[in-house]
Amino acid sequence: MENQSELIKVDDNIKRIREQIAEAALRSGRKPEDVRFMAVTKLQENYLVNRAIADGIDLIGENYVKEFLDKKDFLNLDGVEKHLIGHLQTNKVRKIITEVDMIESVDSMEVAEEIERQCEKHGVDMNVLIEVNIGGEQSKTGFDISEVEEKAAQISELGRVKIQGLMTIPPATDDKRELRRLFEEMRKLFVDIQDKKQDNINMNILSMGMSHDYIEAVECGSTEVRIGSAVFGARDYSKKH
Ligand SMILES: *Cc1c(COP(=O)(O)O)cnc(C)c1O
Repeated sequence: MENQSELIKVDDNIKRIREQIAEAALRSGRKPEDVRFMAVTKLQENYLVNRAIADGIDLIGENYVKEFLDKKDFLNLDGVEKHLIGHLQTNKVRKIITEVDMIESVDSMEVAEEIERQCEKHGVDMNVLIEVNIGGEQSKTGFDISEVEEKAAQISELGRVKIQGLMTIPPATDDKRELRRLFEEMRKLFVDIQDKKQDNINMNILSMGMSHDYIEAVECGSTEVRIGSAVFGARDYSKKH
């Protein structure tokens, strides 16, 4: 059932977040349009996602392959870019390879190699981001900061996998100073790799910042924020497959 007040909340949330991103971009010496606003749509109602798209959201992020394939026909995705942002099991790569515009969660050589294999099979290239486990947490996927350059170089040699930048999910903490330190470390790594200008490695996108920390992330140089609950409200985990 569509709920009018939920729709209006989505409108208001998007308007507010856009303004906050624009202000944070200016504070970091950049233009508002230098930072992209992704709406993270996992476990959210389709009609609310469609409202966000009607409000001008042109980039969505999905976590789960099956959920996305099940619901994509109910979404008004014309002109909307779709990124996979969740951990990807290698056996799911073939299902998603022609369905999304980017895979932001390349967190192992195995998944990168499987993307390459599926790209070859379908005669396509795939844009990817290298996921960095910036907090060094055992529980998180992603490359250790110390191995990112080496792994990026290896992945760049595959051919059809096109590195466009870095993505990270920082540790869950309310310590804003610590978050800024980690975001700045990401920014430094991003610029260091950018400066080396290696073949088949672009550093155009630094994807960091979620509902609780997008302002700090933009202030520290993020070029893409991935925002779910601050746009749509809390996720309904009973919908998870
Ligand atoms: C779920 C998710 C988000 C969005 O999280 P919110 O806290 O709801 O904004 C962003 N990035 C990734 C990788 C996610 O899995």
